[in-house]
Amino acid sequence: MRSFSYQRAENPSAAAQALATAASDRPFTEAESLPLAGGTTLIDLMKLDVMRPRTLVDINPLAEQWSAIDLSGDHLRLGAMARMSDVADNADVKRHYPVIADALKLAASQQIRNMATLGGNVLQRTRCTYFRDVSYDACNKRSPGSGCAALEGFNRAHAVLGTSDQCIATYPGDFAQALIALNATVEIAGRSGTRNLPFDQLHKQPGRSPQVETTLAPGELISGFLIQGRWPRSVYLKARDRQSYEFALASAAIALDVQDGHIRDARVALGGVATVPWRAREVEILLKDQKFDETLARRVAEAAFATAIPRKHNAFKIELGQRVVARALLQAATMEV
Ligand code: SF4
Repeated sequence: MRSFSYQRAENPSAAAQALATAASDRPFTEAESLPLAGGTTLIDLMKLDVMRPRTLVDINPLAEQWSAIDLSGDHLRLGAMARMSDVADNADVKRHYPVIADALKLAASQQIRNMATLGGNVLQRTRCTYFRDVSYDACNKRSPGSGCAALEGFNRAHAVLGTSDQCIATYPGDFAQALIALNATVEIAGRSGTRNLPFDQLHKQPGRSPQVETTLAPGELISGFLIQGRWPRSVYLKARDRQSYEFALASAAIALDVQDGHIRDARVALGGVATVPWRAREVEILLKDQKFDETLARRVAEAAFATAIPRKHNAFKIELGQRVVARALLQAATMEV
């Protein structure tokens, strides 16, 4: 691992100041100064020499202010420094937002969930082998302009939605899909104050600049997530190569409002198949005001992948993803609430 300097930020403004002072005009993920929370992604990537920050700003002292799980009235606020395991085990979250509890429980190992924060989790970086192994030269995300080894390489785990000719890396997380299905807002703190952003605008598709993964400005930090309403009829379903400690090949987060057998509102997000946490708006439109049955579930699941672009080894993800969406819809529509 390369040497780096270490600073400890005792409050949000000190953290923003430390990060912004060292920030260049590079995107967040390429910044010279990065925040250290649970460290479960960043330290791994520093050991692999993929990420090379000169300064780490330890933001763990902010946990006192930024780790609350607060359900008041009809909205939920999750502090960005809350640990994944604490949120997954929270009784209010399990009862009113099962999609969050399930997404967190199905992510990583218990040990990692005990360390990892919500904010760090949504910013985790791709598991693309060529990105994580610096012996491969061609990776536009790690080294802009160098090419993409995955396009003609082994791309079984790569994305079929939201790709470009520059990068086809899959967004690896689970919790982010739950946030999209709940129409969450992300709260972002910077030197000039706090701003709110619809969560589905946080991540950026690769386009011509795969190294730019989010809309965060240099020096900005995620401080929390806000969810309006309660969504007891919500599920997260994840298909993977093994049932523990594995990333999704395809996943779906669904939140439904069903009255008298009709779908009044539907939110659908896909994981494991796209370059960003993927909002399936076409599915949501097709479901709205419809009477639910399995035929409808299968039809809308096909629509979710209408724009998919398969590569040599990952075409199976289209049918797998369709089945995951249809099954998740069935689970959500028929669950007891
Ligand atoms: Fe790099 Fe993206 Fe290509 Fe993977 S898919 S090698 S991350 S450019």
